[in-house]
Amino acid sequence: MQRILIDMDDVMADTSQKILNMVNDTYNSHYTKEILIADAQIREEYQEKYQPQRHRLWEKGFFRDIPLMPDAQEVVAKLYEKYEIFVVSAATEFPNSLAEKFEWLEDYFPYIGWTHTVFCGHKWMIRADYIIDDHEKNLINFQGKGLLFDAVHNKHITDFQRVNSWKDIESLLL
Ligand SMILES: [Mg+2]
Repeated sequence: MQRILIDMDDVMADTSQKILNMVNDTYNSHYTKEILIADAQIREEYQEKYQPQRHRLWEKGFFRDIPLMPDAQEVVAKLYEKYEIFVVSAATEFPNSLAEKFEWLEDYFPYIGWTHTVFCGHKWMIRADYIIDDHEKNLINFQGKGLLFDAVHNKHITDFQRVNSWKDIESLLL
C-alpha cells in the first residue's frame, strides 16, 4: 500500500479562512482569498493588518474551530480505502494546538486515530510516497512526490505539482 502524508493547516483545515475572518472581525474589513490573489497591493495591506494579530495563533482555542477545507472529508475517506494515510502537522510550533488539533481530527476524521497522526516540527525525516502540503519547505527535502496544495501564499511557487482542491487530488490519486 502506498503511503500519503496529509498536512492539516491549509490542506485539511481552512486555516487561512479562519485568519481572514479574524482580521476582518478585528478591522471590520472584507478581505477575501479571491481579492488577495487578484491584487498585490491589497495583499500587502492585508499582511500589515495580519502581523499584529499573528500572536493569536499561539493562544488557546485558535486551532479548535478551524473550518474544514471543501471536500476534504469526502476525499480523505476515499483515499483511506486505497492508501496508508498519515496526518502530519508541524504542530509543535504552536504548543497549545496539540490537543486542539487532535480533537479536531477526532471530530472530522475519527478513523485516522492517534497511530496515524504525527505532530512534529520539520517533516523531512518522514518517508512516504506522497506528501500533500501547502508549504514549499515541506516538499523540498521530501523523498517521495510532493503535491503543493494551492493557497494564497504559494501562488508564486512553480517547482512542484500543484493541486487546486480536494477534487483535484481525487482525480489524481483515485
Ligand atoms: Mg499547511
